[in-house]
Amino acid sequence: MGDGVKVYALNCGWLTAPAAAFIEGADGTMKVPVPAYYIEHPRGRAVFDTGMPALLRSDPDAAIGTYLAQVFTPDMPPEADIDKQLELIGVDPARIDHVINSHLHFDHCAGNALLPNARIVVQKREAEAAREAGAPEEGFDPNAMLAGRDVKEVDGEFDLFGDGSVVLLPTYGHTAGHQSMKLACDGGETVLAGDCCYFHKTLTDMKLPGFGHDAEEQRRSIRRLKAMEDRGARIIAGHDPEQWATMPRAPQPMIGQRA
Ligand SMILES: [Zn+2]
Repeated sequence: MGDGVKVYALNCGWLTAPAAAFIEGADGTMKVPVPAYYIEHPRGRAVFDTGMPALLRSDPDAAIGTYLAQVFTPDMPPEADIDKQLELIGVDPARIDHVINSHLHFDHCAGNALLPNARIVVQKREAEAAREAGAPEEGFDPNAMLAGRDVKEVDGEFDLFGDGSVVLLPTYGHTAGHQSMKLACDGGETVLAGDCCYFHKTLTDMKLPGFGHDAEEQRRSIRRLKAMEDRGARIIAGHDPEQWATMPRAPQPMIGQRA
């Protein structure tokens, strides 16, 4: 299953913040990566998450709101934008067919506009929560990431190409409709966890940030990923600097051979 699927890890920059923003009660500061992924399948091209707003470079208050701008300091070199990351591997951003947003926080979907012809695939619960929240008075507006786009709202598991090689998994909790992506290729399973777990060690220590939609639901989702790991899957966490340092990044493929 999944022969011919290639996956690339894309570096969409970094965020520095008090460690307590990532692990409740932690001391000090942490600098974490903001990853995205490109999946090339014989039936189409997909991107999982799309990085941070370009406006964050010049006007953080306008980009994400005063509160978040005080918490998070971005490191976004020019090549951190999702279109530039795709160009690193020779992929035309206009030819992306599917954008999968794990959820609608600013560091996971702000690059949607740079992939103008893609259908956006989100969990129904995530889109509903964004609509219910409405447009904020200042800062990042999740609804704007979906407005005017072809959006497919899925409810639970969704097999993107119909062959079991790329499957979206509901991992609710961090947000109302958070989702992860299971890749069954190269003879094994890899799960792009997104922010279901920020760090790989979260799978075992269960330490969550102080904010979140529903911590108990998130722990259930984490336990599901841990069970997959126990059966042999590789789980890739959402913002883990140590794990990220060990992963091949574009232009090198993470899974499959470069064409
Ligand atoms: Zn995140």
